[in-house]
Amino acid sequence: MPTFAQISVHVPRVSGVYDYHIPPQLEGQVIPGCLVTVPFGRQTVQGTVLALAEVASVPETRPVEALLDPQPVVTPQQMSLAAHMATETCSTLSACLNVMLPVGLSQQADTLFQLTDGAQAFDSMTPLQKRLVALLQKRGSLRGRQIDAAIPRLNWRDSTQALVRRNMLQAQPVLPPPSVRPKFTRTAQLAAPPEEWEPRLVKSVRNKPGSPIYNRRLAVLQFLQTESLPVNLPWVYASSGANLQDLYRLADAGLITLSENEVWRDPLAGLTYSPSQPPRLTTDQESVWKEVSGSLAALAEGARLQPHLLLGVTGSGKTEIYLQAMAEILRQGRQAVVLVPEISLTPQTVRRFLARFPGQVGLLHSRLSPGERYDTWRRLRDRQLNIVVGPRSALFAPLPDPGLIVIDECEDDAYYQGESPPHYDSIRTAQAYADISRSLLLLGSATPSVELLHRAKSQNWPILRLPARICAHRHALELQSQTLDTPLPDRDVEGEAATLPLPPVQVVDMRAELKQGNRSLFSQPLQAALEDVLKKRQQAILFINRRGQASYVFCRECGQALRCPRCDLPLTYHQNPPGLVCHHCRYTRQMPAECPHCRSRQIKQYGTGTEAVEKALKELFPQAETLRWDAETSREKGAHELLLAHFARHHADILVGTQMIAKGLDMPLVTLVGVVLADVGLNLPDFRAGERTFRLLTQVAGRAGRSPLGGRVVLQTYLPDHYAIQAASRHDLEGFYRQELEMRRQMGYPPFSRLARWVFSSTDQSAAEEAAIQAAGQLRHQAQILDLAAPNLIGPAPCFYQRLNSIYRWQVILRSADPVRWLERAQFTAKETRSVSIDLEIDPPSLL
Ligand code: ADP
Ligand code: ZN
Ligand code: ZN
Repeated sequence: MPTFAQISVHVPRVSGVYDYHIPPQLEGQVIPGCLVTVPFGRQTVQGTVLALAEVASVPETRPVEALLDPQPVVTPQQMSLAAHMATETCSTLSACLNVMLPVGLSQQADTLFQLTDGAQAFDSMTPLQKRLVALLQKRGSLRGRQIDAAIPRLNWRDSTQALVRRNMLQAQPVLPPPSVRPKFTRTAQLAAPPEEWEPRLVKSVRNKPGSPIYNRRLAVLQFLQTESLPVNLPWVYASSGANLQDLYRLADAGLITLSENEVWRDPLAGLTYSPSQPPRLTTDQESVWKEVSGSLAALAEGARLQPHLLLGVTGSGKTEIYLQAMAEILRQGRQAVVLVPEISLTPQTVRRFLARFPGQVGLLHSRLSPGERYDTWRRLRDRQLNIVVGPRSALFAPLPDPGLIVIDECEDDAYYQGESPPHYDSIRTAQAYADISRSLLLLGSATPSVELLHRAKSQNWPILRLPARICAHRHALELQSQTLDTPLPDRDVEGEAATLPLPPVQVVDMRAELKQGNRSLFSQPLQAALEDVLKKRQQAILFINRRGQASYVFCRECGQALRCPRCDLPLTYHQNPPGLVCHHCRYTRQMPAECPHCRSRQIKQYGTGTEAVEKALKELFPQAETLRWDAETSREKGAHELLLAHFARHHADILVGTQMIAKGLDMPLVTLVGVVLADVGLNLPDFRAGERTFRLLTQVAGRAGRSPLGGRVVLQTYLPDHYAIQAASRHDLEGFYRQELEMRRQMGYPPFSRLARWVFSSTDQSAAEEAAIQAAGQLRHQAQILDLAAPNLIGPAPCFYQRLNSIYRWQVILRSADPVRWLERAQFTAKETRSVSIDLEIDPPSLL
């Protein structure tokens, strides 16, 4: 009988596994995967049991204190995955196990901070200490995790020690109790036939038949006699006037049974849907399905599969392939995970999955209550639900036997956990999980990242293609053409579904417009196109890219941005002190009077907001109704849906927006999409700027012409020859991929290397800088003495987003074939200090 348990304790920044003994009362119950509480130092903390052992590795062990859930909370496969993640993301095992536990159940040991009466001497404090004290004065005692949320990304913990020493602050270890538990309702049911009531009732009221108590209890029995099923107690009280004491006595007398029924908190309970049948597949879908179903059949035979990459624009029928693959995996008795970007987790998307698999789908995302998440999590664990749909965290649902992992729109940055450690990439993590669980990883995208496409090609993953947009069912098309009063154009119509070509894209050279004296935001072709749309009573979308606008300095005559002479990355404009800075090497210069490329004096910043565009539109087309969709107008909850519904009902002619139009929305009247300035994103100091711009433009362009009315796209740009803009205008993924890959090869960027990035944050600018310089120096030194392959270091330099919430950020980037192995060999760990906190990311998707 194993009597020891190896336990990963959930304490921030503690990475060890410790041995504990299992006391007799818990014998046989504590098994691998269980969540327990154990003593740790002076505290009681939570931990996950990794394994049992006959002997302990230390002479003296302490006991497991309690079992928090009778069933394991992580599966054996999840434990392997957590170990893999800990290594590959350079974080602790407990942090990785922690992401697998439902919010509210997992509680890390914490410290409660409380001000003492002595906390008055404000003057002698550091700014951070002052901030901390002010916070505690405002909100009362707080736990460490609460302070983390209020003062994010700063190492405030070290500042508390001095305050504790000076007796201004008290710190006590605490383990908060789990904040979620199963929800029960209590019920009563009749347990004896009427002929047995009298004698037992009399006995229960101590020989007082006819007394008020007697009558109340009799009323309970009479009420329950009319009900065949157990009845919730509030109903019993209401119809009999009895109280809980009465029910206990009746139960003691064997007249009724009281029981507890668990109620599931189900976020999908209110959603209506009608069950749907799979449609007949189109020819393209048929050939994709042949491959996927072949792979799934091989999986059933125990094969190990490569990930499959499914390429197809929005509306090309990818989701239908996911649905069929899910059905097949369910037939094999296994479960499926479907990850979608949070933004596209709309009721329409969810309804589509529910309709095909009624009663089988669980939804997990952050806007649900902890209770709803906890219940869904447990139903997935118990095989009551076989499909989980959600954002990246849904990958960690405790499925007993996952057979299929789908990642839709897999190019989305949200699949990287950038906010808090462990910083993991969902695709790489899912790939490891698919290996461990022998399941199929199916990645869907219209514009996969250059890195992913390269990996897929060089490792010979099956790449499947859906080249055409499916317009709609044939009868829906006919209906549309009737209501829109347009004849149905002659298109590929295959059986039930018809396909649509991608809309033509016109690239407009804004330099030429300027030469012709047009200083307006809108080129002649865009003005003409808008006029046409308004005349035909159709709709248009004008898109403005906000990311990177403020910093952008370029020449209106040649279109070039000002670049760093050393790194060739765009320089960033700073107001205070005025000048231009390179965010990679710290090269600085003053704003030049003329363009270094063409000597023009037309060189300035760019910055156009939705308001300016709307105003200019109103001047040109006073009769047009416009609608603005930006951070300001869509701040409130539900505002997105409202704005879109408003536009879809044609209450406005032109939508001016900084945000993407949600997926799957049918807007047949939108026949024009205009991009006000396509170059904006190209000039961010990040090597992925070209790729991001290409992706954004491709997505924006795909919004036009999704009905028999057809459509067009106008891209305005000062860089009409840029390969990203050219490729986007031709919807040419492969062409873009080839050029971008060549550029990456020359510069040694991913996929030809991998990156690790340290971010040093502090309220004290020089402390952040100092820490970054030191870390970079140590890295160089380590590499030298260990004679490792030269580390390719970028920086230290200030981050592009320098002051987020008045925090200064500096970064150091390591470029290497395998940064994790490099760091293991160099045994380098950056040490946090009193005022600087450090974040290490492997494969960061952004260097801004
Ligand atoms: P994607 O996931 O690539 O965006 P979808 O699977 O959502 O594409 O398909 C786009 C539209 O075409 C949806 O309205 C869907 O219902 C419809 N559709 C997909 N496959 C078929 C089919 N075989 N027959 C008819 N309609 C289809
Ligand atoms: Zn110029
Ligand atoms: Zn530079």
